[in-house]
Formats: sequence, structure tokens, C-alpha cells
Amino acid sequence: MNLVASESISRLATLHCSACGTSYSAFELQRVSACCSLPLVAGYDLHEPLSRDVIDQADSSMWRYGALLPLLHEKNKVTLGEGMTPMLHLPRLAARHELSSLLLKDEGQNPTGSFKARGLGMAISKAKELGVDGCIIPTAGNAGVAMAAYCARAGLKAVVVMPRHTPQAFKEECYWYGAEVELVDGLISDCGARVRQRNANGALLDISTLKEPYRLEGKKTMGYEIAEQLNWTLPDVLLYPAGGGTGLIGIWKAFQEMKQLGWLAPDVKLPRMVAVQAENCCPLLETYEGRQANCHSYQGSATLANGLAVPHPLGESMMLRVLRESRGTVVGVSDEDMMAGMRDLGKDEGLFVAPEGGAVWMAARHLLATGWLHRDESVLLLNTGSGQKYMENVAGRANG
Ligand SMILES: *Cc1c(COP(=O)(O)O)cnc(C)c1O
Ligand SMILES: [Zn+2]
Repeated sequence: MNLVASESISRLATLHCSACGTSYSAFELQRVSACCSLPLVAGYDLHEPLSRDVIDQADSSMWRYGALLPLLHEKNKVTLGEGMTPMLHLPRLAARHELSSLLLKDEGQNPTGSFKARGLGMAISKAKELGVDGCIIPTAGNAGVAMAAYCARAGLKAVVVMPRHTPQAFKEECYWYGAEVELVDGLISDCGARVRQRNANGALLDISTLKEPYRLEGKKTMGYEIAEQLNWTLPDVLLYPAGGGTGLIGIWKAFQEMKQLGWLAPDVKLPRMVAVQAENCCPLLETYEGRQANCHSYQGSATLANGLAVPHPLGESMMLRVLRESRGTVVGVSDEDMMAGMRDLGKDEGLFVAPEGGAVWMAARHLLATGWLHRDESVLLLNTGSGQKYMENVAGRANG
């Protein structure tokens, strides 16, 4: 199907290979780049001036940034109200740790309970726009649930392949959305292999992280929201729990686009970006610290933070580029510490976060202790999911 961008408010112009820059049409169905078999990245026409007035203030979802999103036609939008999540101050934790400014963006308040709603809302809208009839995904939990929900809403077939050890709540929720669930012994990488085998004929669109270009575009809306919610300023340091890395890469992409658009003043300093990983599965940390050349043969194991159990992220070099460009770093957090972080955010701030969110807070504490992070710097934590569905991972601590 061929679509014409000029009928639309979207400034979508092109797709290019993340490794070598080769261009591809943004107006037909694409997967990874044919040149390098690596992620494709959407590019927009940002030469014509575009003021911040294009933000649709009446729309309190991620779709308010429509001009900078890839959807061409409103009729293809598949939405459950994702995005525009709250930016919360954490005054008690800030006081306890003598931090001058500590904020948390609570992505657990998205439809389906995680920020995966942004990526899947966008990817499924584009799948519908491009005439796809069904989608398949390997997942650690949240992405599969989100894909199942948006496919249900779009009227598309959904197949979700997840590790057998995934908390039951994720499996059950997929059922209620009418998706077919297949369980695999192993991690998300084993599920990915099963998806390739099962979908060898290409009948379904593979929505694996960064194997189609549009989940990234949904995730980048976090970057636009952060700037808008902070009145077009940015924090000094931003901590993000990185599995496949779409949030890290997407937020950084949004910052670059906003710089180019002039939405951020030339003197606004971009944050140092911190990728937080689970000690049990930290391929990026190992590469970053030079213990391996890349993640290709990394062996990871399961962690409480299911979303971080990604041993072979396809976007590894894209993540490393963000860390380099932003002068950021990588921190590994143990499962025990993630629970300590969840407890801090729960009892001091009233937030029941996913283990990934607990990890991010503990990484901030670690960086404070090492002096990498200074007490007078402003810090933003991304809590990517709600704790509710992970209950069986962290159960048994309460009395009675
Ligand atoms: C998927 C997931 C992550 C990791 O996101 P990536 O985009 O793969 O880096 C972090 N936290 C939660 C709760 C997730 O579901
Ligand atoms: Zn290429």
C-alpha cells in the first residue's frame, strides 16, 4: 500500500538505517534495514519551521505531538489514552538523600500498566495503516500485554511468545485481550528464536524491539513530554531501566529533534543519560566496561525485573551512542536492591513501582555514593511500569 504524507499533519519523511544511514521509503511496510539488518529510524521534515503551537493542548495523550509522529491518517489511530503521565516530585526521598531536585515520571499509569503502551500504541496504529492483518511478539511480559490490547482494539490477530517463568498476571491479561500465548523455556532471546521459526513465512508482522521502526517513535514521546512538563527545561541527569533500550534511544532522539526545531533553547543542556540494568542480565554494562566486544554471546539469567532480561539487544550500539553523546553511564542493580528501591518508593512516596523502577532509584543512590551524581543536580527517574503484575516475584514480605 502506498500512502501520501502530504495529506497528513505528520512530517514523516524517510526511514534510514541506524548503522550506515541508507534511506528507505517511510510509506511502505519495512522491518529492519536490508543493508545491515539493523534498526530503521524515522526521519521528519524539520526544515520548515514548526512552532510549539502544533502541540494539540486539547489532547492529553502522546498523540498531542502528531506532527512529529509517523501516523499519516487519523482514522488509523489505535489509542487507549497512552502518554501524558504524571511528573511527580519525590520530596521525602529527596530530603532523606539531600538531593535538591528529585522527580519521577510515572509510566506505570499508562494503559496496560507500563510505558510499553506508547510503543505498541504507535506500532499497532502503523501496522493497521500499512494493511497488516496480524502481529507477533517475543516479550518479557509488558510488551506482549500491550500488543495484545492494541491488536484487540485494532481488530488484528495477536500472537505473544513469552518465557514460561513470566508472572502469571501477564499471561492471563493476554488471554482477556484475545491473544494467542505461547510459552517458551528460556529468556526473551529464546522467545525471539521461536518467533522467527513460527513466523518463517512472514505472515505476521514481527513487532520485536527495534525490528520495526515505530515502537521507537511511540517511546520518544516521553522525551517531548519531559521537556513540556518541565516548561522546556531538562534535568541534569535522567535514569532509565534499559532492556532493549527503546526508551533510552527514543528519549534522546526526541531531545535532538526538539533542538533542531528550536523548541529547546540553544543553551539548554541535554541530560546525562544513565542506563540501569539488572546484575543478572547486564549485557550493556559488560560491553560499556570493556569486558566483551559486544553482547552477541552474552549469557544472562532471569531477574525480578522481567523487562531487563534482554541478553542480546539489537540496539546495543544505538544505546552506546546515546551514552557517549550524553556523557552518561551504565549501572547494574541486584534483585535484592531492586526490592529495597521499591520499598523506598512505596513507603516514602506512595508509589508501587515495577522492579525496574526500584532499580532506577537504587542506581541513583549508587551514583550519589560514588560522586558521579552531585546533590545539587536535578535528577529524573523513569518508572517504566506498575508493580501490580510483578506481585508473585516480590510476594511473601508482608505479614499475615
Ligand atoms: C520493557 C520494559 C523495560 C525495558 O524497556 P526497553 O525499551 O526494552 O529498554 C523497562 N521496564 C519495564 C517495566 C518494561 O516493561
Ligand atoms: Zn545499513
